[in-house]
Amino acid sequence: MPLTEKILARAAGKAQVQAGDNVWVKADILMTHDVCGPGTIGVFRREFGKNARVWDRNRIVIIPDHYIFTADSKSNRNVDILREFVKEQQVEYFYDVIDDPEGHWVFDATQGQLKRQYGANFAGVCHTALPQKGHTRPGEILLGTDSHTCMAGAFNEFATGIGNTDAGFVMGTGKLLLKVPETMHFRLEGRLQPGVMAKDVILHCIGEIGFDGATYRAMQFDGPATTQLSMDDRMTIANMAIEAGGKNGIFEFDAQTQAYVDHRCRLNGTKATYEPVERDREERFVYELVVDLSKLEPVVACHPDPGQRKLAKELNHVKLDRAYIGSCTGGKTSDFLDFARIVRGKHVAIDTFGVPATPEIVRDLQAARWGDKTVWQILVEAGVQMTENASCAACLGGPTDTFGRMNTPMKCISATNRNFPGRMGHKESQVFLASPMTVAASAITGSITDPREFLS
Ligand code: SF4
Repeated sequence: MPLTEKILARAAGKAQVQAGDNVWVKADILMTHDVCGPGTIGVFRREFGKNARVWDRNRIVIIPDHYIFTADSKSNRNVDILREFVKEQQVEYFYDVIDDPEGHWVFDATQGQLKRQYGANFAGVCHTALPQKGHTRPGEILLGTDSHTCMAGAFNEFATGIGNTDAGFVMGTGKLLLKVPETMHFRLEGRLQPGVMAKDVILHCIGEIGFDGATYRAMQFDGPATTQLSMDDRMTIANMAIEAGGKNGIFEFDAQTQAYVDHRCRLNGTKATYEPVERDREERFVYELVVDLSKLEPVVACHPDPGQRKLAKELNHVKLDRAYIGSCTGGKTSDFLDFARIVRGKHVAIDTFGVPATPEIVRDLQAARWGDKTVWQILVEAGVQMTENASCAACLGGPTDTFGRMNTPMKCISATNRNFPGRMGHKESQVFLASPMTVAASAITGSITDPREFLS
């Protein structure tokens, strides 16, 4: 069985499953956030009764992250609904925006968007926060009310997005009926060349199969090159499985996975035991692709979907209005470091927004020193508008006062993961998805640029 089938079989209490089987699986973690949490809670209450208790208060993780730093009162209220529910149900893991469990969240627009406006427990974007806070473990089942929950497949687990109705059911029972997906096999070989990043790997794969090429299928990434990919790289790749319609993305377990997970579980006092799944000879794949990473070049997914792959060097003629680095996919510490390597000592030519995915990443960038400056200072001096308010921000558009949102038709190059019309705001705007290095090079020139032009 491929990795996904092995995990689903175990979670269903069966020796074996095969693609197409419908099985009841036990969830290890259910994650929800401020956008879908209130809806999920509503379904839970409606179906299980006003006095019902959640199935396991230690397995529910609630992370407000989407529409946070906005003066929109309905968005602020969503965070309050989560807090009230957490208090009522004694949910163990709630990464609140504010510290006061009796308080109300109100974003103070008069302070501006750049300075920190959150308390000590806030964790930032859910998919990046989950591993940082020790909630991703090999061999487990992670269900989340967000399509990019598949990012946790980087840790050798089955992680997928579900709707509010399913999540309400899981909240009450800890179980979900799932159809076992077929598995597509992506064997990664060779070594990435300078200027080429994990984002280019996944944009290449999606370009091969199209934005619906993996619909309800598992995307398994393995092969000799995966050991050279950092956990951040693997997260970037697994995160975008859904951009090809994938049910989940999944990587093999190795020493790097173990080191990351063990460290994070210890640091946060979360469950430290887990059982990874390994490959065997009995794997059945519905599709196979060998990707030689050494042959890849920087690519861009053009408007209007993530499958519109073109080489960055062929798109010099595309003039841009805006550049954006951030999100679960492209707002990790390593993403900002690679971005900073390109913009260091230069100045951006277009409006450029930087939104770290989590407060920990803000701290990393403000602590890392290159010479006599921090990386944060280097980015600001290059003209990047860096906010300390780690969140989804304009990745999903959001209310009109959202940092970096496109409120008029424009062209933006972005390190995020999705570019369907209207994704980052105005429905006539165009989003070009690229690696952090390609975003950096393009921000400097004002048109789409291959970052290798800036590598010595
Ligand atoms: S950063 Fe973007 S893709 Fe990631 S969870 Fe937030 S809105 Fe979704």
